[in-house]
Amino acid sequence: MPHRVRDTIPPLTKRSAHGESLIMSLPSAVDVAIIGAGAAGLGAAHALENSGLSVIVLEARDRVGGRAHTILAAPGIAFDLGCGWLHSADKNSFVGIAKQLKFEIDKTRPPWREQSFDSGFPLSERQDFIAALDAFYDRAEEAAQRGGDDMASRYLEPGNRWNPMIHAISTFVNGCELDQVSIQDMAAYEDTEINWRVRRGYGALMTAYGAPCPLALNTEVTLIDHSGPRVRIETSRGTLAASKVIVTVPTNLIADEAIRFHPALPAKVEAARGLPLGVDDKVMLALEDPKALPKDGNLRGATMRTAMGSFHLRPFGQPCIEGFFGGTFARELEDAGDGAFAAESIDQIVALLGSDFRRKLKPLAESRWAHDPFARGAYSHALPGHAGDRAVLAAPVDGRLFFAGEATCPNFFSTAHGARDSGERAAQEIIAAKSITR
Ligand SMILES: Cc1cc2nc3c(=O)[nH]c(=O)nc-3n(C[C@H](O)[C@H](O)[C@H](O)COP(=O)(O)OP(=O)(O)OC[C@H]3O[C@@H](n4cnc5c(N)ncnc54)[C@H](O)[C@@H]3O)c2cc1C
Repeated sequence: MPHRVRDTIPPLTKRSAHGESLIMSLPSAVDVAIIGAGAAGLGAAHALENSGLSVIVLEARDRVGGRAHTILAAPGIAFDLGCGWLHSADKNSFVGIAKQLKFEIDKTRPPWREQSFDSGFPLSERQDFIAALDAFYDRAEEAAQRGGDDMASRYLEPGNRWNPMIHAISTFVNGCELDQVSIQDMAAYEDTEINWRVRRGYGALMTAYGAPCPLALNTEVTLIDHSGPRVRIETSRGTLAASKVIVTVPTNLIADEAIRFHPALPAKVEAARGLPLGVDDKVMLALEDPKALPKDGNLRGATMRTAMGSFHLRPFGQPCIEGFFGGTFARELEDAGDGAFAAESIDQIVALLGSDFRRKLKPLAESRWAHDPFARGAYSHALPGHAGDRAVLAAPVDGRLFFAGEATCPNFFSTAHGARDSGERAAQEIIAAKSITR
């Protein structure tokens, strides 16, 4: 069902007879302007669908999905540059959406705790590591329950040989090492440990989810002026007025004041600074002779250091390897330029499986989320002492400015479903407010 946009508002994305997208002019006024067409913005737009309010989603990119983005890395190889896993799948709102939109869900268990062929990481060592990791989580959780906040690295056992790899796990989960992570925030995250995937890609699912929404693509918002009776929004394609605004852009853009507010909102900027996006990136390698490796296998590129990749072998049985890097190391590889993730991955895999693999692996694609101007990182974590910033960022301002996005979600932050749910929550706040100024 398309969203109801007031009759005066022309459709904003339209296809020509040849299929290319035509850019239409912006409406001069709407009831609700949603800024950002990622999971949060689309969740908000869907929740407003039957509200009777005119809605527009203003998106800087030429596509929907934000940090959900599937590309065809090679014929038959769908590659999610951003989110790929339906985390906490038994509580994940995208599971029902995927079913409705006829996207096949794959329930194969993630191989993250395995090491194919025991390469450089035999079972006894893995068990020892898992015991150290679980003990660390228990200590941090107990400390969080006692109240107060602290940096998570304080709960590493001094001198434990697995500490560098526990930091590496944090770089995958939080996008940063443990000294940057609040134990209260870690404890607040809800992980049901059920993780599924969408065969055609999480980003492709987001594109289908966004298809009926009223979108203005290629429309970068630069200023939200809430000094007058209606909110004035300045964009790269002109100015429009709105009664209510839902802001869903990533925290790093609010922290950097890439979107400005007038009057300024220092509490929001400070909250966003307490919830920075860490760095995580993915790389896809084509694999010749795929039968040499197990379907949905896994390799950890190193064990005694933090600077390592995690490699998913033949995801869905495809002839490829998907690598994942996080934290300081990912940032360094991004800064090293295009191809650095692929080169590092091939070196790490060759060190584990032998030099034959150098000729069997070919770079296909890689992400660089920290260098992406409309993301500036991967997903949010709370700095020590800043777990409460999620609620500060989520709080409405003057009944007119509403805030959503993964970072505002109290329990599923850093995920796509948490983002979507937060958009729905912001839309419900608007519906509950019932005071539209036209
Ligand atoms: C490498 C990686 C792996 C991940 N893996 C997973 C996973 O497996 N499972 C999972 O659930 N999550 C994962 N995530 C996180 C997930 O992708 C995000 O949490 C989620 O997509 C965020 O949605 P959002 O709507 O909050 O933000 P975004 O998707 O970032 O959407 C915000 C939108 O605002 C737009 N925007 C920015 N500035 C402006 C502006 N000035 N004007 C107009 N528009 C603007 C952006 O272009 C963007 O489209 C991963 C992320 C990354 C990077």
